[in-house]
Amino acid sequence: MAAGITRRDGLKLAGATALAGAAIAASGAARAQSGSGGKFDVAVVGAGVFGAWSAWMLARAGYSVALIDQYGPANARASSTGESRVTRMSYGADAVYSQMAARSLPHWQALSARCALPVFHNAGVLWFSPPGDEYMHQSIAWLEANGRAFWRGDAQALRERFPQMRFADGEEGFVELETGALIAGRAVQTVAKESGAPLVIARAEPPRRQSDGRYLVADGVVAAHVVYACGPWLGKLFPDVLGGRIIPTRQEIMHFGSRPGDARFAPPALPVWADNNAGDIAYGLPDLESQGFKIAFDRHGPEVDPDSQDRRLTPAMVELAREYLARRFPDLAAAPLIHGRVCQYENSSNGDFLVDRLPGHDNVWLVGGGSGHGFKHGPAVGELVARHIADAGLAVEPRFSLATKGTAAARSVY
Ligand SMILES: Cc1cc2nc3c(=O)[nH]c(=O)nc-3n(C[C@H](O)[C@H](O)[C@H](O)COP(=O)(O)OP(=O)(O)OC[C@H]3O[C@@H](n4cnc5c(N)ncnc54)[C@H](O)[C@@H]3O)c2cc1C
Repeated sequence: MAAGITRRDGLKLAGATALAGAAIAASGAARAQSGSGGKFDVAVVGAGVFGAWSAWMLARAGYSVALIDQYGPANARASSTGESRVTRMSYGADAVYSQMAARSLPHWQALSARCALPVFHNAGVLWFSPPGDEYMHQSIAWLEANGRAFWRGDAQALRERFPQMRFADGEEGFVELETGALIAGRAVQTVAKESGAPLVIARAEPPRRQSDGRYLVADGVVAAHVVYACGPWLGKLFPDVLGGRIIPTRQEIMHFGSRPGDARFAPPALPVWADNNAGDIAYGLPDLESQGFKIAFDRHGPEVDPDSQDRRLTPAMVELAREYLARRFPDLAAAPLIHGRVCQYENSSNGDFLVDRLPGHDNVWLVGGGSGHGFKHGPAVGELVARHIADAGLAVEPRFSLATKGTAAARSVY
């Protein structure tokens, strides 16, 4: 199929994105191996959540795909690594992301259903805010308009439903009932494997065009189309195009342990939660799979290099978490820190994703800018990438365009 991918393939893709059955792994592998001598229809560089789902969607649509990663799927340096991620549909008035999250959810549910261990935990997501929070009311309006299940309550109702938490007078909240948490590393490694794409462990270079119009990407892999889903490394790989436009920032997450037998900090008693916290969002996940109660702050840390940043937690961040726990979850204020992780967001200037062509190359795509909220959208991003490759005429979503990626931080997507 290689260079001559047609619109008919696009139609095939539309049909192929129906949810997968258990046979995918075997059939995907067979298709991928049909790319001979290191030649593939598509080389996907980066086996994080965006690259893994892109490979999966492309393989499902019948393309031969190679998946290339310098360290391996969901490696410990990637943004997609670790235990858990929030999946929610609430994005205030930002319907683009609500719709993508809603589109992705059935893929996560189906993946989870066919895996030996869960990938998705339907724990629900609690959002709470001071009175009159516009983001909350816009989110509720979207959930209502789209027939999504949720519960809402004032401070008194919140106190009754979540007695292990503390709420200030006047605060209000709601719980998305269909969403919850994703098990990040497990999910990405499963999707990468299920795609059937041969995994090539190599550090890819920018594309080198061959005389036949294909691209040499890494380690003898040649492909008609290339997808660079390199997360926080995008600016390093394409400094002229993306330097200063995708900024990796240091982010710390902490897991605290409750007492043996105390079920108040695990589902179903506690959902995933996010506290508007006067615009300085604190969020966390209940104790999933005995990994402890997770807490993190959504503010951006200092800029870091994803290859070499120091991945030890800082005492100041642990102290901040304890202060927060003392206010909101007092019975955890003195709980032991049982583990933590330092990773990085890969921020675009405003939090919008990047899904656009590398200038001068019609068949080379830059995909990233997850900006601290990308994980849940992996299936929808992969589907979009596959649609672009199937249909050269498909317009780039303006918000995902390279042209809209600035160098001055002005976050507007949360
Ligand atoms: C602490 C933290 C909490 C988060 N919480 C949430 C959340 O609750 N909900 C949510 O939806 N999102 C969340 N996110 C955001 C989400 O995890 C990221 O946006 C998403 O994982 C980014 O995926 P990616 O595939 O773009 O990048 P990555 O996962 O970083 O993948 C990029 C891959 O490319 C590879 N690579 C790079 N350069 C090369 C090269 N030259 N050659 C070969 N391979 C290369 C890397 O090795 C890596 O594996 C969070 C992120 C962090 C860090």
